[in-house]
Amino acid sequence: MNFINRYLYLTIGLTLLFSNCRPATKVVAEKPKKPLNIILLIGDGMGLAQISAASVMNGGLFLELFSIIGLVKTSSADDYITDSAAGATAYSTGEKTYNGAIGLGVDSMPRITILEMAEKNGLSTGLISTCSVTHATPGSFFGHQKNREMHKEIAADFYGKGIDFMAGTGKPYFDVDKLKNQYNYNILTGKGPYKFDALSQHIWFYNDSIHPPKAAERGPWLLDATNAGISYLSNNKKGFFLMVEGSQIDWGGHDNDLNYMASELVDFDKAVKAALDFAKKDGNTLVIVTADHETGGLSLNAGSIADKKIDASFASKHHSGIMVPIYAYGPGAELFQGTMENTDVFKKMKTLYGF
Ligand code: MG
Ligand code: ZN
Repeated sequence: MNFINRYLYLTIGLTLLFSNCRPATKVVAEKPKKPLNIILLIGDGMGLAQISAASVMNGGLFLELFSIIGLVKTSSADDYITDSAAGATAYSTGEKTYNGAIGLGVDSMPRITILEMAEKNGLSTGLISTCSVTHATPGSFFGHQKNREMHKEIAADFYGKGIDFMAGTGKPYFDVDKLKNQYNYNILTGKGPYKFDALSQHIWFYNDSIHPPKAAERGPWLLDATNAGISYLSNNKKGFFLMVEGSQIDWGGHDNDLNYMASELVDFDKAVKAALDFAKKDGNTLVIVTADHETGGLSLNAGSIADKKIDASFASKHHSGIMVPIYAYGPGAELFQGTMENTDVFKKMKTLYGF
């Protein structure tokens, strides 16, 4: 114990002693607040420049409603610059791994994910993405494969896991008959919105294709899917875990297309608002919003808030190493203040769930 700790303990001890001397004051140890539900929203490639640009271009963002904010270091085990597989695996398993790995450690052995832990503990679980659900970010929450390109193998990892709700694209990678007949999933395909009964588990494919359309064509699909997922999963009194990904913010960055990036971010921001609205009403839900990494080395060079215009340039067509913001609201949100490693996000979620 160092001097600062001794001093702290002494001060706390004296404070407790003296407060006990006053008959009117009762000292009650404050219990750490724990959520029943966690909604983790990942804006793939959503750095601070992306958020700043989209805020100007959209005249503000719901993200700005959060008051608890931190910063996340994103590097992977084998590269300062992470890819989305290692980035999502850090969030899902609490371990840094090599770029391209889906739910595996550096030894290529599977690691249990926060979603799998939630399932084992009797919670309901869900995944929503605006890309194939076998893609690196959603895939790393249920899949365990050596390479992110192994979409069919990642899809096969989904079977029998008990995941309650999934929405996205990637239907051709899945054995739909097996999901329906062997695992009793209700499979819906189309734009929706759908009403989901509380009795069966649901998979909602946006279309029959692997590829999703951009936000302008999707309309409010991500918002609808997020609202549907929350209302379905919240039937479980034991709680739920839901991951929602704004997948194509990253693709706009890779394309060095500011408008594509910003429209995907604004679309994702609406899902954030839906999660926040539920959490405010519910009181037992922690909402976490972050990114796996920044994409494109976006730099904002000039702009006009009045005209909602940004003059930006991209430094690359790849990811960058800059820290990304993390926002939190609800029970346990205060744990997400300060600067942390991406792996810490898993550890904090695990602690808060009590797994
Ligand atoms: Mg992704
Ligand atoms: Zn990317």
